[in-house]
Amino acid sequence: MATISPESPADILARYRAERDKRIDAKGNGQYVDAVGELARFGDTDPNATPRIERDPIIAEVEVLIVGAGFGGLLTAARLKEAGIDDVRILDLASDFGGTWYWNRYPGVQCDIESYSYLPLLEETGYVAKHRYAYGDEILEYSQFLGRYFDLYPKTSFQTAVTDVHWDEKAQRWQVNTDRGDRFSARYFMLAVGRVSRPKLPGIKGIETFKGHSFHTSRWDYAYTGGDTHADLDKLGDKRVAVIGTGATGIQLIPRVAKTAQQLTVFQRTPSSVGVRGNHATDVDWYKAQKPGWQEYRRALFLDAASGLCDDSEIRDGWTETGRILREGKPAHPETPEEIGKRAMMADIQVMNGRRQRIDDTVKDPETAEKLKPWYNLFCKRPTFNDEFLDAFNRPNVSLVDASGDNAITEITETGVIAGGKEYPVDLIIYASGFQVIGKVGQRVTFPVKGRDGVMLEDHWGAGMRTLHGLTAHNFPNWFYIGQGQNAVAANYTTTVDDQAKHLAYILTEAKKRDATVIEPTAEAEQGWLDEIRASNKRPPEFYENCTPGYYNNEGKGGVTIWAESYAPGAAAFNALLKKWRDEGDMKGLTLR
Ligand code: NAP
Repeated sequence: MATISPESPADILARYRAERDKRIDAKGNGQYVDAVGELARFGDTDPNATPRIERDPIIAEVEVLIVGAGFGGLLTAARLKEAGIDDVRILDLASDFGGTWYWNRYPGVQCDIESYSYLPLLEETGYVAKHRYAYGDEILEYSQFLGRYFDLYPKTSFQTAVTDVHWDEKAQRWQVNTDRGDRFSARYFMLAVGRVSRPKLPGIKGIETFKGHSFHTSRWDYAYTGGDTHADLDKLGDKRVAVIGTGATGIQLIPRVAKTAQQLTVFQRTPSSVGVRGNHATDVDWYKAQKPGWQEYRRALFLDAASGLCDDSEIRDGWTETGRILREGKPAHPETPEEIGKRAMMADIQVMNGRRQRIDDTVKDPETAEKLKPWYNLFCKRPTFNDEFLDAFNRPNVSLVDASGDNAITEITETGVIAGGKEYPVDLIIYASGFQVIGKVGQRVTFPVKGRDGVMLEDHWGAGMRTLHGLTAHNFPNWFYIGQGQNAVAANYTTTVDDQAKHLAYILTEAKKRDATVIEPTAEAEQGWLDEIRASNKRPPEFYENCTPGYYNNEGKGGVTIWAESYAPGAAAFNALLKKWRDEGDMKGLTLR
């Protein structure tokens, strides 16, 4: 196998820039289309729905109404219950708990964060995770288990779509209407719909004209492919399949499709970095020997190790690699910001050279190996981890099409995919094209949210999120946002939402103690937080601008990016800040009435 040529860092950075320039699309996020109108079936269908739940409309007053039955909603309900707030109603379009794990059941679906950190409340529930990296079906079952554990099923209405929500100033409550004719009047309203709940499709001409079969990965059609998340897709033996997209989802499903399809053509625009997975069954003796408090310790350790703030030997995985190199190479003398920046760049190049070398070591055809190499800084795109993906390209039935730059996909015809002027006839097109992570609020939240004086959330956040601590917004009294945003974006989503849920439980408990029924941040506090998180962002804007486009950097358009809008010092610092805020005891920035 070829060995990566010892290119100079300057050459590598020049290559990064060229690869980025090739992929920039002037339309930014506008290159994508929502699964609506003619494309509605890509998002509206639910292949996993249970038979329709017939029920009468509910007309009720509740203390807390939560939209979203994924980990955000589950943890909010669980932490509120712990705090003695039990009058809760959860609504979700799905037929069960699970959120993203309910919808995403594509073959090979697995979590990239180790289960001992990702699966929340393990100590409380005594659950023993099966593997170091849990498969999607286990996470889905665990979500359902949590639903039972906290007795949330009777409080949850599934197969229910919220149609509109508004703050009733006179009643000082949220009025929530649904497509089942429900009318809830809620003191508190929590939006916990996640950031990867609305599928997006590439805005390629002709998607609706394709006469074969096609679906988005979050609506996998096993009736067509056969198999399940683990078992072979046994109906693909006579099918020519196209997969469009090689993000975290594409990487996991491609080896599984490759195994049984008559022919698989992978359309890759930007290669993912694919690190080692190294999954294994849980050593139950090790697990059971953990001391009380182990999970909180491990979760914090994971985030610190990934940031290079502590030794990672207890937890070492692909997320902690760069942090380890940086920590171990730290000189004794204090460094200037330039020295830190240079060392960080060299560490990144070292890690990415390793990723590129792995491709050369695995993929036999040198041309395919070249195409699979990622040329950008590791955290320009979400890193992926897989031990079967690269090897899939050694199979005779699998081919890789570079769909970047001049070779872009330009059309979907009745019979196939046109890229670089060539038509690839296929029977099945699988869109692994992701979700509206950075789309406007209205592309992620399907119902209007109207705050005080008719202020629409979509307008309030028109130029990006505005919150106090990522949780509450001015003009939206008693309204709380659960998820990643203007808190600290961390690799482990469930720590973020659990920390948020605990903080929220504190706020509601304090409000009760102080006989307050309305909580709202002041406009000044909201602006202050926005200023603080922007000031906290030490990475120069060029870092994002020089990255290959994607949802991490607003598709290379600059402006509001996910990272630039979160609290850069990280989860531990953010939690310390919130703890200090709580300890001060004056609910600074919130008005309580
Ligand atoms: P994604 O990361 O947004 O990837 C979408 C893919 O589609 C990218 O490879 C993108 O290429 C490609 N694409 C879009 N338009 C295209 C076009 N016109 N032609 C060719 N390719 C096109 O979506 P995802 O893979 O579903 O992942 C979404 C998020 O879900 C992840 O980032 C992660 O947070 C989460 N997730 C986690 C796990 C896990 O823990 N294991 C697994 C799956 C997903 P470009 O890169 O060039 O834009």
